[in-house]
Amino acid sequence: MRAVVLDSNGRPELADLPEPAGPGALVQVLACGLCGSDVEKLGRGPAGTVLGHEVAGLLEGGEHVTLMHRVPCGSCDRCRAGHESTCEEFRQLRIDPGGFAERMRATHVVPVGSLGLDAVWVEPVACILRAAERVPAGSVLVVGCGAVGRLWVQVLRARGDDVVASDVRPDRLEGAGRLGARVDGGPVRAAVVTAAAGLNDALPRVEPGGTVLVFAAPPEDVPVSLDTVYRRELQLMGSRSASPAHFAAAVAVVSELELPEVTTLPLERFAEGVELYRRGEALKVVFTP
Ligand SMILES: [Zn+2]
Ligand SMILES: [Zn+2]
Repeated sequence: MRAVVLDSNGRPELADLPEPAGPGALVQVLACGLCGSDVEKLGRGPAGTVLGHEVAGLLEGGEHVTLMHRVPCGSCDRCRAGHESTCEEFRQLRIDPGGFAERMRATHVVPVGSLGLDAVWVEPVACILRAAERVPAGSVLVVGCGAVGRLWVQVLRARGDDVVASDVRPDRLEGAGRLGARVDGGPVRAAVVTAAAGLNDALPRVEPGGTVLVFAAPPEDVPVSLDTVYRRELQLMGSRSASPAHFAAAVAVVSELELPEVTTLPLERFAEGVELYRRGEALKVVFTP
């Protein structure tokens, strides 16, 4: 079967792989979303890696599913403290290979009802639902209004928050505005940083005692000023990935959201899709085998 595989330099290339033989259900991949975390691994990941975890798939019996590529144990101290993504078992990949392939095996599939290709949004929304529990209600600044930022705006608005959006790109700010976010520069109770380069812009806008949630890997070369954290007694926290409970909740939420527009490309055009994403020309790239 065809798959996009990282070569010895971590560069993606289309390759012919044997049928997936791992444990779990055989899933035919209908579509797989390109995640910021996939792009981070390009040029770094080990040879042979097949990326992709935002899968809309089909089981042999015809049932539409998505899958959980990592699963916490649910019973260790970290899991019980709500930090499931730091659980030792969470490191283990539950899919073989990744979603940028024609077929895969998955030990943890999640039925998605009639979502069809929109199932590629279940994992990103599950990550947001889990992180949102750490964000106090009130006025919330969303930094970065790409696809993930737009989902954040809607999830926060749905629970009654006053959402303020920030993005260096006027068109993206406008998109967030259409979803009900304000765009002024007033102080906020909390900030969600979906583009971690914006962390330093977010900190001075958060009221004393407020919360700053880091939702994306920060670039290595961006220094963070902790002076504001200290003087305003801010709570700085991270949230990464999702839990099984949030996956289940996300299936229902996705059907109610206004989903960001998608650029769909075949696996053969993987490199092109990555470039569109990197240049910010595509809000969300989805590959179909
Ligand atoms: Zn993702
Ligand atoms: Zn655990």
